[in-house]
Amino acid sequence: MEITFGSTKVQLVEGDLTRETTDAVVNAANKTLLGGGGVDGAIHRAGGPQILAECRKLGGCETGEAKLTTGGKLAARYVIHTVGPVYRDGQHGEPALLASCHQRSLDVALQHGLESVSFPAISTGVYGYPLDQAAEVALGAVHEFVIEHRQPKLVRFVLFSPAAFQAYSAALAQVAQRL
Ligand code: ADP
Repeated sequence: MEITFGSTKVQLVEGDLTRETTDAVVNAANKTLLGGGGVDGAIHRAGGPQILAECRKLGGCETGEAKLTTGGKLAARYVIHTVGPVYRDGQHGEPALLASCHQRSLDVALQHGLESVSFPAISTGVYGYPLDQAAEVALGAVHEFVIEHRQPKLVRFVLFSPAAFQAYSAALAQVAQRL
């Protein structure tokens, strides 16, 4: 599925983020930036020890913020590490923090002149964010950012399950209707 917002193509695919060939992939990291399970573990396994070596120098990352490292052995040249909110009940600032993850990651991409970025479904694994709600926040945040900045050229969401692909597809269709 693909929709153009302003000058930016937004694509949704089902697949494995570690195989992406965009300029950067976004990691759903934890605050230590020292590795974890899920997509974080997969990125470090596929990208090799260089990523962790750079992460160690960054001193962690706050929830809703984003920091850049090399992509190591990944096809993507860079990893943008962001920390999603742990979902409690949706009443503890989770939507604003999840939106911030997407917008701060895109800020970092633009600061480094990157033209294409791939995101996973941040916070929807161990952090427990309901897929439908996360999808709505993620697509809404990306839409707002790219309409304002007219960059990057390509944003992809790489969803790891049919359910995630379905949720993000429905949210993208909804955001497109707002145009
Ligand atoms: P969080 O702690 O932010 O919830 P997780 O890594 O536990 O992060 O999960 C985030 C999402 O990433 C989940 O939807 C999970 O299914 C997905 N995921 C796990 N491995 C991969 C992968 N290799 N590529 C893309 N998505 C992945």
